[in-house]
Amino acid sequence: MKPNWINGAWVPAGSARDNINPSDTRDVIGAYAEAGRAETEAAITAAAAAFEGWSHSPVEQRHDILRRIGDDILARKSEIAEMLAREEGKILREALGETERAGRIFHFFAGEALRLSGEMLPSVRPGVGIEVTREPVGPVGLITPWNFPIAIPAWKIAPALCYGNTVVFKPAELVPGTAWLLSEIIAGAGLPAGVFNLVMGPGRVVGQAMLDAPELRAISFTGSQATGRIVAEASLRHARRFQAEMGGKNPLVVLDDADLDLATDAALDGAFFSTGQRCTASSRLIVTDGIHGRFVEMLTEKTRALKVGPALDPDSQIGPVVDQTQLDQDLAYIEGARRDGANLRAGGEVVRCDTPGFFLAPTLFTDTDPAMRINREEVFGPVATVLRARDYDHALSLANDTDFGLTAGICTGSLKHAQHFKRHAKAGMVMVNLPTAGVDYHVPFGGTKGSSMGPREQGRYAAEFFTTVKTAYTWA
Ligand code: NAD
Repeated sequence: MKPNWINGAWVPAGSARDNINPSDTRDVIGAYAEAGRAETEAAITAAAAAFEGWSHSPVEQRHDILRRIGDDILARKSEIAEMLAREEGKILREALGETERAGRIFHFFAGEALRLSGEMLPSVRPGVGIEVTREPVGPVGLITPWNFPIAIPAWKIAPALCYGNTVVFKPAELVPGTAWLLSEIIAGAGLPAGVFNLVMGPGRVVGQAMLDAPELRAISFTGSQATGRIVAEASLRHARRFQAEMGGKNPLVVLDDADLDLATDAALDGAFFSTGQRCTASSRLIVTDGIHGRFVEMLTEKTRALKVGPALDPDSQIGPVVDQTQLDQDLAYIEGARRDGANLRAGGEVVRCDTPGFFLAPTLFTDTDPAMRINREEVFGPVATVLRARDYDHALSLANDTDFGLTAGICTGSLKHAQHFKRHAKAGMVMVNLPTAGVDYHVPFGGTKGSSMGPREQGRYAAEFFTTVKTAYTWA
């Protein structure tokens, strides 16, 4: 059994969970500890006890440790990426990209540790000086989803440690292997005991114990809207800060003057790569009349040509869906869209491969209506719809007709429309002539409306969440 890391020691649990490969369900990757409430509380107590020391640690020590973690991730990237692809199902190339990104996130925050700064101002009262400084928040709980098993943990753990917080990290049940390798690296990087803790286990046990603990002064959560609400309500009860990054129903607008090759490539990538299991996936393709026919024809052809297969097979372009529950959910949405009258142009069915896995053909619907369920709810699979728009204004209103607001994209040759879209799309991130998915690691990440609660993640904006501001007045 792979144990949890609590208070500077590897701690086995009373029970374990088998980690199953979604590309081949006969492949049991390993057994991973399933913590209960007692282990989780031990981790929280350890993080609370370690806080005072770590919050005043020298910035060079923080820099060196974060730098070492980033170096080790990059040195072990093949091993980590193989684990990631094997347990989550994204193809190896994507898993490698995600792992490299995690290494670079630690490097970025290593640098940020040396750039901590504040402000000095004169007071309105003569003789008085003012200092405005940032301090860590306290012991923090980090709860992550399965679809980015190393990038999302990295973009929460690295800033939390950089700014002097201590950490209780709870990864998603389906991807303990990558989280464990990351934690092994962090455990060997020289942090004092209790500063970083890994607790694997079910959300309703480990996650709930974290939400119930008044010692955790902040919770950073990424996952579904339903769990995000639970996190928000529990955090309000404890007067604790929280951030929740949740789902998306991201539009990609394609105007008549778009480059057709570029637009269909952006749609293909945004909708189907990483098996469509990205919060930033382009699930609604909004296409204006003049280009609609050619766009649908070309995208259908490209979609049908995608090769679905095992994540570690170098020929595969699309890996499996993460598990049976997600596959059932995807198929239910596909069935619902058919019943609602959407026109199925590609996919829609399970794909048989040499190994038993959860393979689903990339699925494209056209002639859809904005009111259809498939256009309102997040599927979180390789499923996209085309909506027809009369002109730019109509396309923009369709793009904004959603409860979500994570990313929005536009493909156009018109600077005027691109500029207007950047200002009027109701989303936290806007892409011009790019897929809606695929973001940099040194700039803010997050959404509006039902997609996000709380301050942005990543880049220097991470300080907004992981620090609190102190204003000190001195008369001397
Ligand atoms: P999920 O909400 O089911 O689980 C996320 C995490 O919360 C897991 O670690 C889970 O164990 C934990 N959890 C579950 N119940 C809990 C509870 N009662 N208390 C505390 N913790 C609990 O989400 P998922 O299925 O793992 O991930 C898919 C979702 O994540 C999608 O909606 C996707 O859009 C979203 N997502 C959002 C972003 C973003 O940054 N906006 C990024 C990736 C994924």
